[in-house]
Amino acid sequence: MYQTNKPAYAQNSVIGIAGGGLAGYAMAVALCKVGFQVTLFAPDHLHFSDSPLSPEQNNRPLALSKTSIDIFTSLLDISYTDFSRILQATPMTEIHVSEKGHVNRLLLRAEKYDMDFFGAVVSSSALQHLLQKTAAQLSNITIITDSVCNATPTNRNGGTAYSITTSNNSYQTDGLIIADGAQSQLRHNLGFEVYTQPYKDHAITGIITTTQPTTGRAYERFTKAGPLALLPCGSHQYAFVLTIDSATLAQKLDTNPNELIAVLQNRIGDRFGEISTAESHAIFPLSFQYAKELVGRNSLLLGNAALNMHPIAGQGYNLVVKDIAWLYEYCLESDSFELALQTYQIHRTEDHKLTRAFTHTLINIFAVDWLWATRGIGFGLANWSPTLQKAFVSLGGGRQLKQPKLSFKT
Ligand SMILES: Cc1cc2nc3c(=O)[nH]c(=O)nc-3n(C[C@H](O)[C@H](O)[C@H](O)COP(=O)(O)OP(=O)(O)OC[C@H]3O[C@@H](n4cnc5c(N)ncnc54)[C@H](O)[C@@H]3O)c2cc1C
Repeated sequence: MYQTNKPAYAQNSVIGIAGGGLAGYAMAVALCKVGFQVTLFAPDHLHFSDSPLSPEQNNRPLALSKTSIDIFTSLLDISYTDFSRILQATPMTEIHVSEKGHVNRLLLRAEKYDMDFFGAVVSSSALQHLLQKTAAQLSNITIITDSVCNATPTNRNGGTAYSITTSNNSYQTDGLIIADGAQSQLRHNLGFEVYTQPYKDHAITGIITTTQPTTGRAYERFTKAGPLALLPCGSHQYAFVLTIDSATLAQKLDTNPNELIAVLQNRIGDRFGEISTAESHAIFPLSFQYAKELVGRNSLLLGNAALNMHPIAGQGYNLVVKDIAWLYEYCLESDSFELALQTYQIHRTEDHKLTRAFTHTLINIFAVDWLWATRGIGFGLANWSPTLQKAFVSLGGGRQLKQPKLSFKT
């Protein structure tokens, strides 16, 4: 794993992290490994018994890019085999992008890019469980559960520190990571400006079982009624993110598996035989939201608190993992947390802009009716043009810019 000596300043600094989701726990592990004293505020109970996860917990899939997997295996000091086993990973070896009504489609194969796989679909609950367990075993972390927190900036030695309060106590920290989700109260309280654009669509997520095996292929399918993403999970299942342009229809599909199967089958066609079962897990309105600045005074917005995108391209958490790997690197190579945050603000803003643009453009291109014919030609061109394919793989896999050192195997 990439590591230089732990910087002396880190060992004398306490960093507060508000939020115990996938972003908060992963950042906690990274900052502990830099050498900081970390106090994590996670309102949910810790859950890291070694008992098997329930089927519901296993059924929340997340597509992790190859870069994210490399970063996690380095950071958690775990082999790829163990990581895959613990997270019940299904490798994605192919990505199929198509639009209903067009014969042309784009089929990307990992082997063509000298990759074993583009990424893997993992159980997000198992990842959360692994991160919690890893964090709880570190000696320089305090985990405060059971209550939400608020943070107030204070002045210390001419710089900004934080007083973090819960219903029972108050804690002093030198820096603050704000990872309290898309509705972030701390982001609002600390005056970060946010850009919000609601989409008119709703998303339904869940799992389908198919008659034919999954073969590692993920699908992104665009139709006039909205996009559909299918991620392979195990041998005969796909996790789906179905976008519906009517809230009423979304509610109806959420409670009626047969109608849900009919809509899904109609959107995807008979590419993998028949869908035998469909189970809806969640339904929610979609919106596009991001903070105009990532960094405040000795503070940083992370995860959904920084950026909340359409889930169709599976990019959100992969960007978070890179954010964490870069902050880890900047902290190791800086003389203070504040300087590391300044470097972060300069360099991470571009990646955020590109990732937002990739997902947002994908959604918008396919939402415009008069571009229908052009898209058909575009698919044909893309399928025959190695340059266009490479650009899509690079942008889709978040590899358009320099990669953090944690993502390279030593
Ligand atoms: C349907 C769907 C599919 C997705 N699929 C993918 C995918 O395939 N690949 C991918 O990369 N990304 C994907 N994403 C994005 C990914 O899920 C998010 O990037 C990730 O969950 C962000 O986690 P988070 O920790 O920032 O937020 P959250 O999970 O919302 O966690 C925030 C935490 O903060 C806590 N909290 C709230 N207020 C406070 C407070 N005041 N004090 C302390 N704690 C507080 C909450 O209890 C919660 O635990 C998907 C998203 C959706 C919706």
